[in-house]
Amino acid sequence: MNSGLYVVATPIGNFGDMSQRAIEVLQNVDLIAAEDTRHSQRLLQFFAIETPAMAYHDHSDDRALHRIGQCLAGGGSVALVSDAGTPLISDPGYRLVRYAQDSGFAVYPLPGPCAAIAALSVSGLPTDRFLFEGFLPARDGARSNRLAALAAEATTLIFYEAPHRIEACLQSMIEAFGGDREAVMAREITKTFETIRRGPLVELAEFVSGDSNQRKGEIVLMVAGKPRGEQALDADVAKLLLRLSQELPAKQAAAVVADYSGLRKKQLYDYLVSAKHQLAE
Ligand code: SAM
Repeated sequence: MNSGLYVVATPIGNFGDMSQRAIEVLQNVDLIAAEDTRHSQRLLQFFAIETPAMAYHDHSDDRALHRIGQCLAGGGSVALVSDAGTPLISDPGYRLVRYAQDSGFAVYPLPGPCAAIAALSVSGLPTDRFLFEGFLPARDGARSNRLAALAAEATTLIFYEAPHRIEACLQSMIEAFGGDREAVMAREITKTFETIRRGPLVELAEFVSGDSNQRKGEIVLMVAGKPRGEQALDADVAKLLLRLSQELPAKQAAAVVADYSGLRKKQLYDYLVSAKHQLAE
């Protein structure tokens, strides 16, 4: 096998999701760098992988990087795995990948399970654009601030959340986005108690507080982006619209700016009507 660092995705619950290539790479590399060697032991034993493993996370001291570097420099190969899913996605590995690339070693991805992508694929929310936020801050104030900063985002938002914080998190989301905003909770994906639930945020909050089982296990929360029609007008777009409306009837000005901005004609027309109304007052 080629020398280099192999970034290997592993199952997020169901071992049946382990790829054939992941098994072969883990069996054939010289060393496995694992987020938690004890945790990965179950998976390695299940697939009869006997490759030596060492602990690696982004706060590991330089000795860990040095050991990996020596292996690569000697023409060897190292696999990076995290506890579950794709390394580096809310998991360790960033420092190691940068180090390997900057040192001139090859870095190979082995794609596979990722909770965010699995959840998005069954969410029923728009998937053409999405924003992965990972874990929100644990403290209430910091979490509310982060959510407030995301309230006008038009793309689907994806969050990882701990089960003991799910209720508080949903409450903060209701405050930031409004209770009507559509959201999806994907819990225990690929496991026995897999639950995918879509509904307005208030409904999801009721569902979670009414059933303690929904506050257990691993959870991905997704929130629909702000509907386009509700987007605040960008200052430049508003300026252009008002200037054009001095030359053209409101409907035509709205149509031209709709072509230019991709916003809805009706929203632009309504904006003009209310702006003219305010000017007249
Ligand atoms: N690197 C992983 C990945 O690719 O998905 C994510 C690691 S992150 C430390 C762990 C978080 O991912 C959990 O707290 C949960 O939010 C989400 N997660 C992982 N496995 C999951 C599962 N089976 N079902 C739902 N969410 C899961």
